[in-house]
Amino acid sequence: MNYRRRTMLLVCVICLGLASSTWAQSPAKTPPLDWKAGVASAEITPTDHMWMAGYAGRKKPSEGVAQPLFAKALALEDAAGTKFAVVTLDLIGVRREVRDKVAKECQEKFGLPPERLLLNASHTHCGPEYRPRAGREAEAIAYQARIEQTMVTLVGKALESRQPARLAYAKGRCGFAMNRRRNYALSPEDPLANRAPTFDGPVDHEVPVLAVYREAKTPEVLVFGYACHNTTLASVTSPPDEPKYLFNGDYAGFAQERLQQLYPGATAMFVNGCSGDQNPYPRHSEVPGILPLELAKHHGHTLALSVIAGLNAGGRPVEPAIRATIGDVELTRNADKPSHQYPVQLVQLGNQLTLAALGSETTVDYSLRIKQEIRAPLVWVAAYSNDYSGYVPSRRVAVEGGYEAANDFTIDVEDRIMGKVRELLPAIR
Ligand SMILES: [Zn+2]
Repeated sequence: MNYRRRTMLLVCVICLGLASSTWAQSPAKTPPLDWKAGVASAEITPTDHMWMAGYAGRKKPSEGVAQPLFAKALALEDAAGTKFAVVTLDLIGVRREVRDKVAKECQEKFGLPPERLLLNASHTHCGPEYRPRAGREAEAIAYQARIEQTMVTLVGKALESRQPARLAYAKGRCGFAMNRRRNYALSPEDPLANRAPTFDGPVDHEVPVLAVYREAKTPEVLVFGYACHNTTLASVTSPPDEPKYLFNGDYAGFAQERLQQLYPGATAMFVNGCSGDQNPYPRHSEVPGILPLELAKHHGHTLALSVIAGLNAGGRPVEPAIRATIGDVELTRNADKPSHQYPVQLVQLGNQLTLAALGSETTVDYSLRIKQEIRAPLVWVAAYSNDYSGYVPSRRVAVEGGYEAANDFTIDVEDRIMGKVRELLPAIR
């Protein structure tokens, strides 16, 4: 190797070294603990057998627990004393009445305004059904009261336990989510049009990460997102040798569990994204010799590694500033069906992280469009937040029709939601 090539190689090595060096890994460059952060978690696995949410084909209530379910709260305080709390749940969804009750109590008890409280559900299809079901109303009402009280308690505990911290954001990438829709308009008779893997359909494989550090180099809290239904497990189509009625968090539950194993003492919190039309593949019994529960663990561990890959690729500091806003937009429906008040929440952390939290089951087009329209180092688009009222199609999906368009929203549904995002944006910028 001649001198010139050796010199170029050395320059390249130095450049690579600098590029991969981040403050999270370099104690000499560690910024101050300019945030305050507190975290709390509680198990929310039903104490008795309950009907399970997510699959209409189930014939009976739960029979046991494959993995406990959790609610977790992270409370943040910026340099000016402004506070924000996010609660994640291994549950099918956050119904609006639940959100409103919890928000009201958090405002009364802790002075936390509603725009600075975000509630997100993982949409696991192996959690309890807490919408009252004929003949089993009492268990649903009791469970709903339990999770409402748990969320309020957790927000209080997280706020109480605030300690100096620093925040970093990162982005990983994970590939098991695939679009599950074929174009219904083009193939209305296609028996596979309903939830079949479609490798050229839109996806969002980004894994946004918010990490909380204190003195140690390893994170104390990891909040991470992914746009994919928690539906690795089947209901009645599971193979006969796998129990079908066990509570668990599907891939998101196993991803959180894995991260907590890899970072002992840390709390991992999953935020579901715009996964209305995204499924994990392979799923159910599609892999010979691997039962669905095992497959959910594989996906969860893959996602956990994607979080770590994102952090290793470069956790960047987040400045200690919180701005947040929330508002409803009216979504109208065809044929004089009742309209729906739909919540849109925007949260800005420093100048680095813009979080758009949409309600219910939005399709992935929203994530891709918001990331195109909003510019920030990290734009994080969550769905399943603050409301759970079924599918919210994009214009494309509403035009095509089919399963995710079943709520029958008018064709301007995407325009209305995007209009609300644009209307709210100045409040956080
Ligand atoms: Zn769903």
